[in-house]
Amino acid sequence: MVHDVLIVGGGPAGSTCARFLVGGGAKVAVVDRAEFPRVKLCGGWLSTPIWDALALTPRDYPGGLWEWRTCHVRYGGEDRAIACHGWFIRRYELDDFLLRRSGAQLRLGVSAGPITRDADGLWMVGDLRARHLVGAGGTHCPVARLFPPPRPSGPVAAQEHEFRADPAAVARTRIGRDGEPELLLHEDLRGYSWNVPKTDWINVGAGTVDPNEVRAAWLRARAHFSQAGHLPPENAPELEAMKGHAYYLYDPAHLDGAARVDAGGKGGAYLVGDALGLAQPLTAEGILPAVLSGRLLAEAILAGAPASYPERLRAHPVIGDYRRVFRLREAAAALRRPARAAGQVGGIGRRAISSGFAWMFSGAPLPAPRLIDLALAVADRWPRKERESGRAA
Ligand SMILES: Cc1cc2nc3c(=O)[nH]c(=O)nc-3n(C[C@H](O)[C@H](O)[C@H](O)COP(=O)(O)OP(=O)(O)OC[C@H]3O[C@@H](n4cnc5c(N)ncnc54)[C@H](O)[C@@H]3O)c2cc1C
Repeated sequence: MVHDVLIVGGGPAGSTCARFLVGGGAKVAVVDRAEFPRVKLCGGWLSTPIWDALALTPRDYPGGLWEWRTCHVRYGGEDRAIACHGWFIRRYELDDFLLRRSGAQLRLGVSAGPITRDADGLWMVGDLRARHLVGAGGTHCPVARLFPPPRPSGPVAAQEHEFRADPAAVARTRIGRDGEPELLLHEDLRGYSWNVPKTDWINVGAGTVDPNEVRAAWLRARAHFSQAGHLPPENAPELEAMKGHAYYLYDPAHLDGAARVDAGGKGGAYLVGDALGLAQPLTAEGILPAVLSGRLLAEAILAGAPASYPERLRAHPVIGDYRRVFRLREAAAALRRPARAAGQVGGIGRRAISSGFAWMFSGAPLPAPRLIDLALAVADRWPRKERESGRAA
């Protein structure tokens, strides 16, 4: 059967791409190796721009939805309740809803591979054939294995578990209201842990820049949440069942591998979401960029200009902010300031770090992006030697 577009992976990136393509009149098939609904390791946190990106309102989402307006952040031994805004969902429900409403032909429980091309240049997965092939299969996407994007840095890692709990016990042990996240910023700021009450579910986990650090970070977080009485003691066995996964944060170099378009632009292969590596460079938020990339690719294909997909990504305000955050993070690293323990950061610094993180967690755009661009451009012109002597000082 010949489709216009064949999408490998039915997570938020693949299902969003499918939905917008189908809405534009394209014939689309989605292949996923899992039967849906399926478990996806994820905290289920959504930042505010997600609804526009999905072209959906919270009212129209039928699954469990927890809106929060306060984030409880602990850093350097200090607890702060910070006003900000976002939502939590359960990925088990969200991904199934998004995929089913996409209108694409679904082949679930089918692993894509081998992926080949026929004599007419059509991509082939099993008996499915299409001009355009979309890799939306996450970190280990088979399309990304065929066309690996540049990977200047390794992946980050996270451990997580979402489990059912007695709602009375959740209410008794949580800090704040139902759905309000508790975030534990790690002392060296190389990761954070979370504890999220979702009425009769609890989602806990930890993520670190270095995958080798994630297990120890989780054990520290677990000890803290347990000793503080923020987890029902009867759920201790569930805390033994953590699972891990690694994925790539946004790097501008990744976008060079976003599209391989055939001469004439009538077909090609593309990567979206985690398959490309788009998660926010500090918070590691991945659902929003997955949805955005799926939608932007669909719009590029529908416009008959698939080669414009990487440029559309670069030009999007959210991805523009990711580039700035990436550059600021790199600039800080270039100063070779060793990651300071929270105890060495002054009180104002600790407050600013906690508030800044909570604010980024809610997906607020960076203030004064032009000023940041200007500062980064000046930093670029700063002679390398001076930068290096600055480092040595
Ligand atoms: C522990 C953890 C917690 C996280 N918490 C959050 C959070 O709270 N908020 C947030 O925004 N982001 C979070 N993220 C990141 C987020 O989960 C991902 O960035 C997001 O799921 C990416 O979506 P995607 O559609 O690109 O890929 P995925 O959601 O991974 O979907 C990929 C799909 O491809 C399918 N697939 C893979 N291989 C094949 C194959 N060979 N054939 C067919 N199908 C295949 C898979 O079955 C899967 O359904 C978290 C990540 C982790 C690991």
